[in-house]
Amino acid sequence: MSWLGKISLRRFLFTLLFAATAALAARLWTRGSLEGPEAALIGAAVVLALALARNDLSPLAALGRLADDLAQGRNKSRINEALPGEYGRLAQSLNRLAERIDNDFSRLRRLDEMRRDFVANVSHELRTPLAAIKAFSETLASGALAERETAEEFIREIEKSADRMSRLVDDLLELSALESGQRPGAREKVSLMRAAAEVVAALMPLAQKKQIVLRLDPFPDMPDILADKGQMKQVFTNLIDNAIKFTGDKGLVHVHALLQNGRETVLIQDSGCGIPAEDLPRIFERFYRVDKARSREMGGTGLGLAIVKHIVEGHGGHVSVESRFGEGSTFRAEFPIPAA
Ligand code: ADP
Repeated sequence: MSWLGKISLRRFLFTLLFAATAALAARLWTRGSLEGPEAALIGAAVVLALALARNDLSPLAALGRLADDLAQGRNKSRINEALPGEYGRLAQSLNRLAERIDNDFSRLRRLDEMRRDFVANVSHELRTPLAAIKAFSETLASGALAERETAEEFIREIEKSADRMSRLVDDLLELSALESGQRPGAREKVSLMRAAAEVVAALMPLAQKKQIVLRLDPFPDMPDILADKGQMKQVFTNLIDNAIKFTGDKGLVHVHALLQNGRETVLIQDSGCGIPAEDLPRIFERFYRVDKARSREMGGTGLGLAIVKHIVEGHGGHVSVESRFGEGSTFRAEFPIPAA
């Protein structure tokens, strides 16, 4: 039987010896003496118990127990390193091994949790537009097609949901390519000013629609950096597009740069809604949004800033944000300048 296999032989023998010794001691108490064989049995029990205890406390037994613990996945086990000579060194090595196994397990558990969260988020993000497409097409099929105006409105909604799914898939592919290192990107001389100017020109109509002043100051004396121009434009597109999206009508979006501590820093500053202080530390995480419904309504995927962070850090740079809720935000993307 399997439970029998789990009983430790050593513990069983200890218990047996204890019971026998206790029985003989009781007899000694009531009768006042022991017969020869009984005294011999107690003597043998004590000798055997000492031998077992000695074996149990020996350094090798302790090392063996730690190895067993590790083999059975009890990674938190450690051994007292104050063992004599070589045993002590072996104990240290085994403890280090246990520490590493424990760290690796924690990292794997964290990665697994992240993977599960990610899959749950993607499924949720895809399910919402998919449900809308299904509902609108079912309503169309069950008669709404006959009413031209309603039909046109439903078809526009279906198109909007399909666009949302397609944006999400594009961003997911982009992020996955960046994370897997499949797209390391070129390293050529890039003028950040020129890349930012191209993005500002492309996004100007969006700003004008909201009567937002989109201002780009010249970057003074900025040397070129070594970068992938397409990826730099992607960074500026995501940051400036967000600044326009989260700024109310007639607001201001200001793009400028400064040279500091051997790094070139581009600042994208807006007079928009700002980000609450408690959300700031998580804002670059995938799918993290201050207001999910509002972001979706504005066509956001929740992946834009995660992509920005990946690209900037892939170029040895750093991205950060300062914001005051209700007053506006400033995103800073800084890049190292190559040695001349
Ligand atoms: P989204 O597709 O939702 O824009 P992002 O990853 O680009 O996804 O941004 C994540 C969240 O960060 C946004 O949903 C928004 O809550 C917040 N955010 C980003 N940029 C700004 C900004 N300039 N002003 C205020 N909030 C911002």
